[in-house]
Amino acid sequence: MQRDDFIAYQEATFARNGLSVSKEQGELLYRLTEQLIETNKTFNLTAITDEERIAELHMADCAMTAASFPESARVIDVGCGAGFPSLPLAILRPDLHITALDATQKKVQYVQRTADLLGLTNVHAICGRAEELAAKAEYRESFDVATARAVAALPVLCELCLPFVKVGGLFLAMKGKTAKEELALAKGAIQTLGGEEVFFCDTPLLGKSETFARAEIRIRKAAPCPSAYPRPYGKILKKPL
Ligand code: SAH
Repeated sequence: MQRDDFIAYQEATFARNGLSVSKEQGELLYRLTEQLIETNKTFNLTAITDEERIAELHMADCAMTAASFPESARVIDVGCGAGFPSLPLAILRPDLHITALDATQKKVQYVQRTADLLGLTNVHAICGRAEELAAKAEYRESFDVATARAVAALPVLCELCLPFVKVGGLFLAMKGKTAKEELALAKGAIQTLGGEEVFFCDTPLLGKSETFARAEIRIRKAAPCPSAYPRPYGKILKKPL
């Protein structure tokens, strides 16, 4: 797809979902798509490889939650993979300070290299395991928002994300069609980790020829997280809270 066709397709996708972007932001999202497709030829970053699907399932999907982040928030994206939502979010919300965390060094390098290439000075990519970093004073309860997309089921994800969030801050989970069931299963984890559910929204994403189920769950951190959490990853998986 040619540049202008991609930008037009992306604009139409955004408009269909009630979103708008500036010309500069549209251009940056295009350059991000180019980088993703190019790098994906030699290093497996994403299973979504055609431009139309990238515009819908990566860019528009992330754009749909962009307005949910408080002004100038310090955000950690847990399990950012190829930079979702970190990179579109950094383009659409330059006021945010984003830490993009992933356990895979090559993905972290790609995210930082791409952020630098696009001039996104509000992204800092780090390599590590969420459950280990969240125990360190430098990271623990020090973000206004922890977010994650496509990393783990919600009970597990709560334990990986809520310890990063300041009391009064938010954990914002980007979920798909099983969101409601996952939320029901995560009630205990949310309570144990100091959270309280504040918002559930399952507005679908309207593609050109398909509708995609998606949901956003926002959990407020109401109390500090007990120091026993997060547990080692094996334990979190074996016995989710
Ligand atoms: N958020 C991205 C990537 C999802 S794939 C997207 O929506 O496209 C899940 C990613 O989470 C992988 O890159 C994996 O390395 C990372 N991950 C899984 N468990 C993790 C953990 N405990 N700590 C840090 N990263 C983790």
